[in-house]
Amino acid sequence: MSSSKNVILVTGGTGLVGAAIDYVTQHEPVGSRYGKFAEDDQWVFLSSKDGDLRDLAQTMAIFDKYEPTHVIHLAALVGGLFKNMKYKLTFLRDNLLINDNVLWASKEHGVKKVISCLSTCVFPDKVSYPIDESHVHLGPPHSSNFGYAHGKRLVDVYNHAYNEEFGCNFTAAIPTNIFGPHDNYDLEDSHVIPGLVHKCYLAKKNNTPFTVSGSGTPLRQFIYSRDLAKLFIWQLKEYPEIDPIILSVGEEDEITIKQVAESIVKAVGFQGEVTWDSSKADGQYKKTASNSKLRKYLPDFEFTPFDVALQESVDWFVQNYDKARTGAAAKKQ
Ligand code: NAP
Ligand code: GDP
Repeated sequence: MSSSKNVILVTGGTGLVGAAIDYVTQHEPVGSRYGKFAEDDQWVFLSSKDGDLRDLAQTMAIFDKYEPTHVIHLAALVGGLFKNMKYKLTFLRDNLLINDNVLWASKEHGVKKVISCLSTCVFPDKVSYPIDESHVHLGPPHSSNFGYAHGKRLVDVYNHAYNEEFGCNFTAAIPTNIFGPHDNYDLEDSHVIPGLVHKCYLAKKNNTPFTVSGSGTPLRQFIYSRDLAKLFIWQLKEYPEIDPIILSVGEEDEITIKQVAESIVKAVGFQGEVTWDSSKADGQYKKTASNSKLRKYLPDFEFTPFDVALQESVDWFVQNYDKARTGAAAKKQ
């Protein structure tokens, strides 16, 4: 292997964000701000079939095999509000193990730069708005997902400790809620957009009501996976800090779950009844994040309009229903 060649290992490379990074490396011009470093880059998109990153020996074997120069670390136990509420210890433990192993293997293998993926769930529940990068450790996270949140939050502590003790260039991205092609479209254990897209698709197919969970009042910022993928590549190539950076649309683009449901109805072309199951949890009311740090670095970055990105995601889902991650419950409907 040539010593000047970049080998970029993407853990969790088969998931929502990994598939979007794969797409962007194939579609953005090489050497552009959001494209590959060079034509001869080797991008490796890992799945759990390549090894279980909760296990140090398997993680080290992957790093021995590929000798990465750069790592985009996406692999995680991931789920929406309802899965997080059910499996708090598993979310904490699996994510701690994965993060510990990937960062240790990166240090041991002399990786030049690692970007780990956090989430706005890491921020404190009781916080001043808008949330910014300085708030990560200022109080306990929301009770609905404290396992996941602590598992992720500690990555920022690791990044500073690796930097101060070993000089490692490890940093993190903090995206808001993400959606796009290749998402997990499970009916129960998914995030709100893929879960509702699937439910609306079935309601249209079966001529039944489309039922949305909770009150519809919570607020969220959504980023399209392919926009996020461009930002990850920019961050890998240009971002100079150990401190994390929030990757998000602006505060003005925050929308309610009710607006999300209405947009999904439109994108799916559903004309039946919409009902609300208010017995289901709302989770955190809002986690409004500031993207002013991102805007300082990239004032001109253009986000895909929400309705355009949602239509692309719905079209992908409809066209790929048989191979999409739809979960066991869907097979019966
Ligand atoms: P995803 O679609 O669920 O994909 C998860 C990926 O991680 C898959 O490639 C999966 O492999 C891999 N993985 C899971 N457990 C593993 C293990 N023990 N060993 C090896 N690989 C493992 O997730 P995503 O939505 O793309 O999320 C990517 C990152 O963004 C995560 O760090 C997540 O916490 C963060 N994030 C997500 C959201 C969101 O709304 N989705 C929001 C904020 C932050 P298999 O395909 O083989 O299972
Ligand atoms: P969060 O942003 O981490 O809370 O995660 P989600 O993507 O799971 O969004 C949760 C919000 O969407 C809550 O207010 C839920 O009540 C609401 N919601 C409405 N319908 C659904 C659904 O079918 N699945 C999920 N995950 N959330 C839903």
